[in-house]
Amino acid sequence: MTTTQKKTLYVGRWNDVEYVYALTFDSAVASVKRHFAYGNSNEDDYAVGDAWASGESDSGWRIAEIEVDVSIIKIEILLSNQDETGHVAWLCPACGESYSDEWTADDKLPVLLMCGCSKQTKFLLGVGKRKGDAAH
Ligand SMILES: [Zn+2]
Repeated sequence: MTTTQKKTLYVGRWNDVEYVYALTFDSAVASVKRHFAYGNSNEDDYAVGDAWASGESDSGWRIAEIEVDVSIIKIEILLSNQDETGHVAWLCPACGESYSDEWTADDKLPVLLMCGCSKQTKFLLGVGKRKGDAAH
């Protein structure tokens, strides 16, 4: 049995297009700023813009809150000892697909994971231990 939990997620949207999902408002803003779609569209072919919407009808980036069901899953983080970066290995309990996502030194547990197996994006919350945390 997989445990599911209601959770508020923060979505970074450019107008109606959703680009990033995060567990906190601040990390959603940070993810938008790191995203290839964020930037001056005149200078960068992949960028849609770098303006933040101020009003509801305004064009630009905004952070929206959504309430979703997330599945709590155990993950495995494989780090290289030198720089704290590595990969997070996990398995979607809904479709059985296994994934390996990038893990950076800034990433923290629990980590938000996504699988495109259902019509609506399936959100998962990865909990676990980083390998190497245990005493030798
Ligand atoms: Zn899946």
